[in-house]
Amino acid sequence: MQEDKKNRIIVIGGGYGGLRAVEKLAKHKNNTITLLDKNAYHFMQTDVYELIANEKDFAQVSVDFFTYCSGFDRNVSFFKQEVSSIDFINKRVITATQRFSYDYLIIAVGARTKFLQSIEGLAEYAHGVKALHRAMYFKQKFEMSLFKKVDESGTVCRPLNIVVAGAGLSGVEIAAQMASFAKEFYCRNNFLCRKLNIILVSSSSRVLKGMDDYLVKKSQQRLLDLEINIKNNTRVVSLTKNSVTLSDGEIVPMDFMIFAGGIEPNGLIYALDLQKDERDLLKINKYLQVLGYEDVFAIGDCATLYNQGRHIAPTADVAEQMAALCSENIMNLMGNRELKKHNIKSRGILIALGRGYATGRILGVNISGYLAYCMKKVIEKLYFIQLDRHSKKGCSKIFKM
Ligand SMILES: Cc1cc2nc3c(=O)[nH]c(=O)nc-3n(C[C@H](O)[C@H](O)[C@H](O)COP(=O)(O)OP(=O)(O)OC[C@H]3O[C@@H](n4cnc5c(N)ncnc54)[C@H](O)[C@@H]3O)c2cc1C
Repeated sequence: MQEDKKNRIIVIGGGYGGLRAVEKLAKHKNNTITLLDKNAYHFMQTDVYELIANEKDFAQVSVDFFTYCSGFDRNVSFFKQEVSSIDFINKRVITATQRFSYDYLIIAVGARTKFLQSIEGLAEYAHGVKALHRAMYFKQKFEMSLFKKVDESGTVCRPLNIVVAGAGLSGVEIAAQMASFAKEFYCRNNFLCRKLNIILVSSSSRVLKGMDDYLVKKSQQRLLDLEINIKNNTRVVSLTKNSVTLSDGEIVPMDFMIFAGGIEPNGLIYALDLQKDERDLLKINKYLQVLGYEDVFAIGDCATLYNQGRHIAPTADVAEQMAALCSENIMNLMGNRELKKHNIKSRGILIALGRGYATGRILGVNISGYLAYCMKKVIEKLYFIQLDRHSKKGCSKIFKM
């Protein structure tokens, strides 16, 4: 294919991976990029902990796709449509109302919370945070519960019991943030009734399974300092409206529960006739192409990535690196150049553990405390600024019309 021909590229999913790909590919004047997302906004899941703690409102953890896409100089358009299937033979992406033809396709639909059917009552009584509407609902529920405690003050003082099931990155961050926020909130306002129990349920022998010892040790200590009750080697087996039964037989009273115990692919991935791994995530080759179609790439949480036999944990950082490489490889395909193999590794991780404290590892260096917290804030801010730049530009274009 010649580089001066218009190349139709479709990106399905405007998450961390999808948006980075749009940004990279939009730099080439012959590319016509169509972004499809079922939502009208990009949701910054990495900032959920700040949403919960009222440090940010929903507008600060989301970016409007229409204005964002309008902010590019040329051919980037957005359609708010959920993709239901893909015709790989005729190169068409299918939604409920339209069919879009592509030359190159990027599947970047992320993942969703896996509400295990084997856990009775889970889907009914637990909350997830991987979607903005769910995170908003949970934030309101948390705030309302705190208010109820304040309202009860001076009469009764029942404890507020919050169960967080799953002690991976998101479960740990959310548990720590709630504990830290509530502590400050009660003290600052001199409330009498302060009984907040946060129970963090971890199915393994420690929190943050698979992460390095330094991060685990620092996080574990901080969680204990925040008086979070960690239950290791335990699983949630069933839920009722106000209790959780654990695998060791203990019944824990519960006002509400967050389930952060695992992810699964979004519905579209189940519907696609492509090769998948045992967790139903898309298998990809070393160039990030799905198996069987050289013009189709899969990036981010919906694909499974290995580097020298080691599984690379899905994060926003990894999704963005995959986006950069797949965009480069699409340009290589267009120019009949050799494709570039991936050598993607996590560049680092910063775990927020309540207000003013984080722990992490950046480019091989361990860091903890207020400095790590500030670094996390700076990274989030820089990410937001570059998206916001396009949105502002798009917004002023639209309102001038
Ligand atoms: C609470 C929490 C904290 C986290 N903290 C960190 C952190 O500190 N650092 C870090 O690196 N990672 C963190 N992560 C992980 C990170 O958020 C994910 O790895 C990242 O979002 C993956 O990006 P993605 O582009 O693959 O998918 P996503 O960001 O999930 O985006 C997928 C997009 O696809 C869209 N979509 C889905 N299905 C369809 C369809 N059928 N049709 C059209 N559109 C569709 C969705 O609406 C969404 O916009 C955290 C996650 C959570 C939940």
